[in-house]
Amino acid sequence: MERIQAHNITKKFGSVTALNEVSLEIDPGELFFLLGGSGCGKTTLLRCIAGLEQPTEGDVFFGQRRVTKLPTHKREAAMVFQSYALWPHMTVGQNIAFGLEQRKVEKKEIERRVQEALEIVKLGGFGKRGIDQMSGGQQQRVSLARALVVKPKCLLLDEPLSNLDAQLRLEMRSEIRRIVKENHLTAVYVTHDQAEALSMADRLAVMNAGEIVQVGSPEEVYRRPVSSDVAAFIGETNLLKGVMRDREVVEVLGSKINGSVIGEHAALKPGSNAIVSIRPEAFTIVAPEGAPLQGRIIQRVYLGSVIQYSVCLSNDQIVQVSEQNPAHLREPDSEIVGLSVSSKDVSLLEK
Ligand code: ATP
Repeated sequence: MERIQAHNITKKFGSVTALNEVSLEIDPGELFFLLGGSGCGKTTLLRCIAGLEQPTEGDVFFGQRRVTKLPTHKREAAMVFQSYALWPHMTVGQNIAFGLEQRKVEKKEIERRVQEALEIVKLGGFGKRGIDQMSGGQQQRVSLARALVVKPKCLLLDEPLSNLDAQLRLEMRSEIRRIVKENHLTAVYVTHDQAEALSMADRLAVMNAGEIVQVGSPEEVYRRPVSSDVAAFIGETNLLKGVMRDREVVEVLGSKINGSVIGEHAALKPGSNAIVSIRPEAFTIVAPEGAPLQGRIIQRVYLGSVIQYSVCLSNDQIVQVSEQNPAHLREPDSEIVGLSVSSKDVSLLEK
């Protein structure tokens, strides 16, 4: 287990600034996610941490060691790639053994450690198989075993599940988490899949345009997004325009709604404009009289355990409202409904 720190990392590729003074601290034993849209710099940051890319400015520390100029293997880090990067002409065992052979580890020890790595990824007995006889999911396990066999302190994963089908991705999520925790690794995991990050991460960083915009636990980032961009990127949300009326009171469509100001939003003074983020599942459909918001249901999508309604508010804005375990279906166009929301589910964000 090792603490990983990035200090003020800037990375430029010619005129493109891929990372702009990024700082980050990842706790020992943590499974940490870098999350963000395409081109935001998450792979570049991971590659700087891995030693596959040199930062233009700034430093990387593993524990007390400044590793900015060290190659990957000297950092005691191992990387798992989206493409697996396995040698197709070798057996599973040979692929896993390769890194140890390069390090001139004794033959008996290599055999023992390859077996151990195969057991960790639940592929005991597959050592003599050709790579081309393994399924996509099994190949990803082999690439994990190859990373683990060198006994790294840090495991760095770049979209490791992107090439797998939906069912396997779900299975491998808990597998990777188990492997990281059982082997006491500090792991950094890059993905653009927010469900993967929310379901697996201890903490995550949301990135945008070469910068980190929020760091927190999945629950913190989901419930308390610092900006409307983060709110919209992590899960689904409704963004309503409002005007601040008090410290934590906003007026939306003539009604006062209580909420929480996220972070230090000095700009959210009474009278200033605000963006109000409310998740679809935070709304409750109630009688229209006296409800903070009213609207007409214009569409219904039945998903079994959940129904998603599109509700058109008085200003013609359409919001999404989901009902869990619905007792009965509401008919689109037939009724005006009220929407209420608990103040703890209302995030007040700067415009
Ligand atoms: P994706 O999810 O699409 O992989 P990302 O968040 O991982 O995106 P990066 O690959 O880190 O993004 O790229 C960040 C920025 O740096 C992009 O604008 C990209 O075009 C640029 N970039 C990355 N690598 C290079 C390179 N080797 N040469 C030039 N520009 C690069």
